Amino acid sequence: MGTELMRRGLSRGECPETWNLKRPEIVREIHRSYFEAGAEVVTTNSFGGHPVKLKAYGLENKVRELNYEAARIACEVRGRGKFVVGSLGPAGKFLKPYGPLDEAELEEGFYLQASALVSGGVDGLLVETMYDLREALVALRACRRAGSDLPVLVTMTFQKTPRGFFTLMGQKAADCLERLEKEGADATGANCTLTSSEMAELAPGLRQATSLPLLLQPNAGQPATDEKGNLVYSQSIDDFVAPFKKIIEAGVQAVGGCCGTTPDYIRRLAQFLHQK
Ligand SMILES: [Zn+2]
Repeated sequence: MGTELMRRGLSRGECPETWNLKRPEIVREIHRSYFEAGAEVVTTNSFGGHPVKLKAYGLENKVRELNYEAARIACEVRGRGKFVVGSLGPAGKFLKPYGPLDEAELEEGFYLQASALVSGGVDGLLVETMYDLREALVALRACRRAGSDLPVLVTMTFQKTPRGFFTLMGQKAADCLERLEKEGADATGANCTLTSSEMAELAPGLRQATSLPLLLQPNAGQPATDEKGNLVYSQSIDDFVAPFKKIIEAGVQAVGGCCGTTPDYIRRLAQFLHQK
C-alpha cells in the first residue's frame, strides 16, 4: 500500500492514513488493482494508525475516523470469496526501558485502532512488521479484545544474521512464533525487510516452530532511490516469484508481498501459485 501511495504522489513526511479521508478514491483504486491482480486478501491503509504514531502528525484525535475509513474503503471493493484484513503496524516508539511507552498505553492504542477497523467491516486483523515480540503480544491481546471472534494474524519482521534470523530487539524467530501460538494468534509468520529468497531460507525453521497457519510476505528486494528520486526495489518480478516454490514446499499456507510488490508482482505470484 505504501509503495502504491508513493507512486501516486504521497510525499515523504505525509501521513499515509490521511489519504483515507483526502483521497479515498485512490486508496480504493489501489485495493481494486490488487484484487484484480489475483489477491484473495488485501490489507487496509492503516499500518500507521496507532494513536502514538498519528500523534506525531497531530492526528491523535482522528484515530477512529482514519482507521474506520481505511476498513470501509477496502470493504467497498471486496468481491465474493475475497477478504479484507485490518493492518496494524508498530506504534513507532519503543516500550520501556528502551523508550517511553508502557504496555497499558500501547495496548489501549491498539485496542482503539482495532475496534475502528472491526466497525469498518474487516474480516480479520493483521498485526504486521513487528520488530519486538513484546509489542506484538500487546497488539495481539488488544486485537483479541476488539475483534471478538475475528481471526488475528501476527507477523514479525526478522533480520538475517550469521547466527540465524532475529528481530531488531534480538529475539529469535522460532521463539517468537512459539510464543505467539501460545498466546492465541490464529496465524503467524513474517513480513517485510527480507527478500523472497531469504524468506525461503527462513520458512523451514518457522514451520518447525509452530503448527499454526504460516503467512510470509517478503519485500521485492532492497529499496533504493533512482535518478528521479523514486523509491525502487532491487528484485525483478521473476526473482521475486521463483523462491515461492521452496516457501510453499516448506509448508507455508499463505503468501503475499510487502514493500515494493506492485500489482504486477502479485499478478505473477498468483499465476505461479495457481499453476502448481
Ligand atoms: Zn515492508
